[in-house]
Amino acid sequence: MTESNDWNEYVEQLIQDCGDRQATVNLRSSEGESDEQTTIKALPTVYRDTEFRSLLEACWAATLDSLRIVWEYEPETFTLPSGVKYLPDFHLPEIGAWLEVKGPGIPRIEKAFELGAMLACSCEPLACTCRWTGGELVIVGHPPTPMDPWNQDSYRHWPRYAKAKLARRHGGFIRWTSTRRHNSWMTRCSGCTRVSWVEAPRAFRCPVCESGFEAPLYRSFENHFEFERLPWLSGGALKADVSAA
Ligand SMILES: [Zn+2]
Ligand SMILES: [Zn+2]
Repeated sequence: MTESNDWNEYVEQLIQDCGDRQATVNLRSSEGESDEQTTIKALPTVYRDTEFRSLLEACWAATLDSLRIVWEYEPETFTLPSGVKYLPDFHLPEIGAWLEVKGPGIPRIEKAFELGAMLACSCEPLACTCRWTGGELVIVGHPPTPMDPWNQDSYRHWPRYAKAKLARRHGGFIRWTSTRRHNSWMTRCSGCTRVSWVEAPRAFRCPVCESGFEAPLYRSFENHFEFERLPWLSGGALKADVSAA
């Protein structure tokens, strides 16, 4: 037993949960048909009166709340240029972005990439006058990077129990990739204090208040923004409704 077992167990739960999500992806792609895929049961998680298909999605919703990013869950189905229908997980209407949650058990992410290309505008970066510079973003949200105080210099002098306590309570850090192969950052606007994702063509002004950024921009690997860790779930049918907490 090590102190980080609790974290590992939690991430394992998320990963297992992602397997259930894969079943959901199959469900979506076979909509209207009734093959044996539709009999696979997904694990619903209720958070703020919304039923999510997985704990990982619910944790992402809680994370967006903690950052005060307004979200809508599955509000719109797109028909992609390839003719395929695609229902992204989250719309983030105030920052002009969509978020697709992807776990390690979900290899198919092509639709998110196709939507990213579809929503990009074709303006010259500095001449773009679209409402969302460069077009709306499509971000892929991953399971969090664990908080690891045992391997971080700034916690070197912390006693063992304090490190263990920190790791147990910490949600880890937000990990994401952009679907457009640009550099992408998260930042908290120094003007309106709202958090948003920005990509290379958009890195000059806040998508919420449109003022110029003075705040630092963070890449995914810099582990700056904390992921929100919802309470434990165990058993298939348990629901974590923390809205009343
Ligand atoms: Zn444009
Ligand atoms: Zn702003």
